[in-house]
Amino acid sequence: MSYRKLEEYDLQVTQEVKNRYKTIIEELGEDTTREGLLKTPERAAKAMQFLTQGYDMDAAEILKGAMFAEDYNEMVIVKDIELYSLCEHHILPFFGKAHIAYIPNGHIVGLSKLPRVVDVFARRLQVQERLTHDILECINNTLKPKGVAVVIEASHMCMMMRGVQKQNSVTTTSGFRGAFESMETRNEFLKLISSDLS
Ligand SMILES: [Zn+2]
Repeated sequence: MSYRKLEEYDLQVTQEVKNRYKTIIEELGEDTTREGLLKTPERAAKAMQFLTQGYDMDAAEILKGAMFAEDYNEMVIVKDIELYSLCEHHILPFFGKAHIAYIPNGHIVGLSKLPRVVDVFARRLQVQERLTHDILECINNTLKPKGVAVVIEASHMCMMMRGVQKQNSVTTTSGFRGAFESMETRNEFLKLISSDLS
């Protein structure tokens, strides 16, 4: 076998979260001994461990591991990065796309690392505003570019399934540092992420 992906869970955490899920499911009026639900507490525990794995990861280290000296001074954009996170108020998903741009200042970063930085901060309990800020500050402080911009567009299940039940609303958040604080650069970036290049 030349490739094998391993999943590892902290078994003690799995066990404790599993026991609590069993209680929650029963409190909600279900029968945890019926066939379809027998393994649900454990599956739910593992799903939550996966979806919050960002707590154990260091986004700055991921970026540092793939920084290369390069004399490139133009805007680098990675757009339409899929993101899935959990709203910290309801523990329900919010999901959408992130668009990231930076202008190098002597160093570029491996392009696949930017989606990984998004994942590190998305895979924990979050609000969209802080997620945007976390990604922005991490890139700004680690790569130290001439400028960095982050835009996130996301739909929130806590709005869609409950509460106001607004099915089609999308929340947009953005953050800009350095060169992107000038209107001209910011508008160029916003134009490039809104045009369909594919
Ligand atoms: Zn919520």
